Amino acid sequence: MPASLPPPRRVRARLRRRPAGDNSGRMVWLFDLDNTLHDASHAIFPAINRLMTAYVARVLGCDEATASRVRVDYWQRYGATLLGMIRHHGVDPADFLRAAHEFPALAGMVRVQRGLAAHLRRLPGRKLLVTNAPQDYARAVLDIAGIGHCFERVVAIEQMWVHGHLRPKPDRRMLRRLLVQARVAPHRAVLVEDTVSHLKRYAGTGIRTAWVTGYLRTMAPSRPHDVPGAPTSAQDDSSRRDAAVRSTLEAEEDRRAGHAAQEHSVTLVAAESQVPQAQSGNVPRVRARVPNRPAYVDIKVQSMHQLQRRMRRNGS
Ligand SMILES: [Mg+2]
Repeated sequence: MPASLPPPRRVRARLRRRPAGDNSGRMVWLFDLDNTLHDASHAIFPAINRLMTAYVARVLGCDEATASRVRVDYWQRYGATLLGMIRHHGVDPADFLRAAHEFPALAGMVRVQRGLAAHLRRLPGRKLLVTNAPQDYARAVLDIAGIGHCFERVVAIEQMWVHGHLRPKPDRRMLRRLLVQARVAPHRAVLVEDTVSHLKRYAGTGIRTAWVTGYLRTMAPSRPHDVPGAPTSAQDDSSRRDAAVRSTLEAEEDRRAGHAAQEHSVTLVAAESQVPQAQSGNVPRVRARVPNRPAYVDIKVQSMHQLQRRMRRNGS
């Protein structure tokens, strides 16, 4: 090709997207978004939960209590309400996700750690965002958090179709394909996540795992064993709260026995795991009890600041 010709469009696009910060080093970071880079437990997850329940009620033509039960069932069987809705009701995933992530006041709902952009920029290595959320939402959160420029690519749920099937995290095929596309050997990749069951699922694929615990919250009592309409008047009392947390842990333990993929799901505090809005107004939110680092977790940190300091100290 003559030197005077401009580079092909694809190359120009890649040059334009070169992210800010320290991209040196051999590591490639695959960052989750919600509750990893920002506090989604605060307002966003409860809102997503509400919107999902309303969507299911609309599609099924039922009340919200019934919709909540259906969601619990799908969450337990398939790991996500969406997958059950696709399988049994033929919903359009894009429509579902759009409806579940419509926030007119998103800017006021995003909470980030001070200095987050600087921490990410200083972390050596390439950075990709890999989220089960939709692309528009992910980019909006990144913009609000002021960290969009740190990532060379945003891999959202729309990019997680594999051979005609939607394969969100923690699907191994989806991640393997992503690593091939990004030209990353598995041993150079680090998945940074709050959802420890995802990390467990990817253990054994060769990638490294970092567990971020700082934003983990649970609600007491948690789904799926909460009783709609149960008395809540004494829930501010700390002993009641402790008892509820213990109950949550026990129930999660029971469920874990029947569903290997959801091991340690007491810390899987995603929108899916929170109580329906009908009860959430009266339910105290408490910090999750974080267990010790499981063997399949390579790094356990509370925050991006801690991760950046640790990796720079180790010279990675
Ligand atoms: Mg997350």
